[in-house]
Amino acid sequence: MELRFSPLFSGSSGNSIYVGCDDAHILVDAGMSGTRIVREMAQVGVDPRDLQAILVTHAHNDHIRGIGILSRKFNLPVYATEETWAEMYGKLGSMSEGNLRVIRPEEDFFIGSIDVMPFPTPHDAGGSVGYTFELDGAKLAVATDLGCVRDSWMKHVMGSDAVLLESNYDPNMLDAGPYPYDLKQRIKSRRGHLSNDDAGRAAVELIRGGARQIILGHLSKENNFPELAMRSMELYLQQAGIAPQEDCALYVANRDGNTGMFSISARLE
Ligand SMILES: [Zn+2]
Ligand SMILES: [Zn+2]
Repeated sequence: MELRFSPLFSGSSGNSIYVGCDDAHILVDAGMSGTRIVREMAQVGVDPRDLQAILVTHAHNDHIRGIGILSRKFNLPVYATEETWAEMYGKLGSMSEGNLRVIRPEEDFFIGSIDVMPFPTPHDAGGSVGYTFELDGAKLAVATDLGCVRDSWMKHVMGSDAVLLESNYDPNMLDAGPYPYDLKQRIKSRRGHLSNDDAGRAAVELIRGGARQIILGHLSKENNFPELAMRSMELYLQQAGIAPQEDCALYVANRDGNTGMFSISARLE
């Protein structure tokens, strides 16, 4: 079976990623309106009635906005850590008791044939996690909303064939930009977001560990540009002796819509 995924929305204004195979259909986060998420799913050929689960990374609004409506409409179980549930439960509207699933970091579980592993992430939300997905030797990682490059998450993401990797901000744009001082400090902190430089350093390690597709995601609208994130990544790889696009395919996930459907070995279009 083939492991497939599609970033439906990725950025500081909303995040949702489809992950699936023949017998499993999963959403990671639902940080846009239910209507918009369903529309993007249809565009990449996924029927929302086939969904089996929504996995939540953390309780920030750009990850949870559409969870309540999608869970009610399609009777979907929602998986989150205990601390994430504590932060988000009151924001989802009425939830059916039977659809509340509590997960623990570093305890894997199966959805269909896909082995799902939540791993802890350094971020300013309680119980924040990323996920890896493994199927028949293929491995995908969703690694966004990370304050710093750290072994606690790199050890889980290492060995992935494809990684949706945060490349949130350009440090110079953030410093020169309009955000208030406190917000700039929060973004730069070890529990904030990865810069383009952090992403470059992480990607070098991940490609040496076998990654063949890196999708840059969760770009800031105010403090980054897709071209800048891509250029920065290419420079980091070149300095490390890695040929961008030859040794590893690079993409930037779209902020306002899907980035196409990927299989673990190629973009299907
Ligand atoms: Zn976020
Ligand atoms: Zn966040």
